[in-house]
Amino acid sequence: MRNLKAEVVRNAAKLRGWDVILKELCPEIDDRAFQKPGRHTKCPVHGVAGRGGDGFKFFRKDFQDSGGGMCNTCGTFPDGFKMLMWLKGYGFADAVAEVGAFLGIHSTADENQQAKVNRANEKALEARRKEIADKEAASNLYHSKRLNELWKASLPLTHPDAEPARLYLASRKILCWDRVGVDKVVRYHPSLASYNEDGEFEGDFPGMVAKVTKAGKPITLHRYFLTPKGEKAPVQSPKKMCMYPTDRLVTGGGIFIGSWDEVVVDVCEGLETAWAIETGTNFAVRVHPLVNATLLEGFEPGPSTKLVRIWIDKDRSGRGEEAGLNLKKRLWEMGIQAQLLTPSLPLLEGEKSVDWNDVLLKLGRMGFPQARRAA
Ligand SMILES: [Zn+2]
Repeated sequence: MRNLKAEVVRNAAKLRGWDVILKELCPEIDDRAFQKPGRHTKCPVHGVAGRGGDGFKFFRKDFQDSGGGMCNTCGTFPDGFKMLMWLKGYGFADAVAEVGAFLGIHSTADENQQAKVNRANEKALEARRKEIADKEAASNLYHSKRLNELWKASLPLTHPDAEPARLYLASRKILCWDRVGVDKVVRYHPSLASYNEDGEFEGDFPGMVAKVTKAGKPITLHRYFLTPKGEKAPVQSPKKMCMYPTDRLVTGGGIFIGSWDEVVVDVCEGLETAWAIETGTNFAVRVHPLVNATLLEGFEPGPSTKLVRIWIDKDRSGRGEEAGLNLKKRLWEMGIQAQLLTPSLPLLEGEKSVDWNDVLLKLGRMGFPQARRAA
């Protein structure tokens, strides 16, 4: 039945558990997403088999209660109704009706009966809300402590022990790891524990840690797992963001070395890309890596900024370019000029993406815009 009371259905859904409901109604979602909320799986809407799109997950902290989740590309869906609207192309009333039907609420009589059940279970629901909140607070404390410990055990990239990091950067032809201010933001770590998306331990590796901040406030650490010889570590994802307290928001954040509130600001996705551009332009520009396409898209300029140069990745999926264009559009709407700089290399058959680090590796400084070099 359409026009059911959303609150009645919502509370009934909480009582049954959104995990149970969505598993039944959405066979298109990868089972592994249900097994471990917070785990990334293929996006049921934009993911293509064998071609990436692994940005979908359910919320780790309250999935059973909220039914919410997000895809790095498609957006955030805070509750089970929004999730169904996105997945099935429903309007709100259709989503409520479908969940109602699944829970046996077909008529006004069913609805009244369910409202009674909900009221009888109010205390149980409240107790569960509190349990989730307590768990969240404990987990937040754990994550902030862990981030501090990780950072405390790190060393400057110039330290004699940091050779694996320097070997890695040298293999990318990057020369600016020793410039002023780097040691406050990007450092070497002798032993980073790596776990895959299923939570399985993959080993301890040397690597780099980079502080992700937002308006100067620390949010989390981004990790680069390496081998002692300075190659990418043989793990599922050699670059991973640490988990961070849920009361911090990473959107608008990035890896900022020095001031980001300048008249002209340069931004890109990856740390290696940023440092490759700095090396390639003979240090004429300073580039802030914003970690990934989603954070690039969400960049928040400071009050002094008049122009943002966006050095994009050329991806097979088109995601890098899309993120750059979205940022450019938002900046223009704010009255800030924006310019996209696309890598001067073609995307060859079989390649997933080309970035400015590839330009430095293949073309050297010749591959970088002349004006930038003279700037
Ligand atoms: Zn998606």
